[in-house]
Amino acid sequence: MTDYQFYQEDRIQIARQLKEIADNFTQKGWLPATAGNLSIKLSDDPLVFGVTASGKDKESLQLDDILAVDQECKPIEPTRLRPSAETLIHSKIYQLTDAGSVLHVHTVYNNLISELYFHEGNVTLSQMELIKGLGIWEEGAVIEVPIIENFADIPRLADEIGNRLDPRVPGVLIRKHGIYAWGRTPFEAKRHVEALEFLFHYQFLWVSVTRNGSLPLAVPPIATAL
Ligand SMILES: [Zn+2]
Repeated sequence: MTDYQFYQEDRIQIARQLKEIADNFTQKGWLPATAGNLSIKLSDDPLVFGVTASGKDKESLQLDDILAVDQECKPIEPTRLRPSAETLIHSKIYQLTDAGSVLHVHTVYNNLISELYFHEGNVTLSQMELIKGLGIWEEGAVIEVPIIENFADIPRLADEIGNRLDPRVPGVLIRKHGIYAWGRTPFEAKRHVEALEFLFHYQFLWVSVTRNGSLPLAVPPIATAL
């Protein structure tokens, strides 16, 4: 365990970065009911990353609500904190991609999209400017974000994410649960979450408009005469 002491300074640094992201996502309402988890990689070999602890309110995240874990999601030093079961998914993504940060949020629109397109296995997003926010710059780009079943068995869920992830697309949706998105840096991972959430929001509203021929949201009635 003492092998990892030298991470101490880095851990404070990443705790600050994770708190900054959590505070920003909180303003957007993306971390409700203690849900969601956020991590930043500290070391590649051996894999060590800092992750938000289980059960903590991410909407008022404290710097000491973050613990450092290894590839098996075991804390690398004594702590009263527990990593959430979903930490295994972060580990899987770090092992399979060049991610330096993995962010997981539950939002209404990612839940709606994950259910709407579940039967297709993915949601296709095309020709939207914000696809560039995912680092995909080709004109008229078309991407498919995988959607997987929300298995209660987390090792199975992690394996399925590993099987389905597309190296070109930095995110995977879990049915009626949320999204895991990642990037090489915390800044990039945050941008990817924001771009994907914008695209899901647009897609849901667009489908609602074109399917029903009217806006999906209740429009306030025109003021009637007094
Ligand atoms: Zn979750």
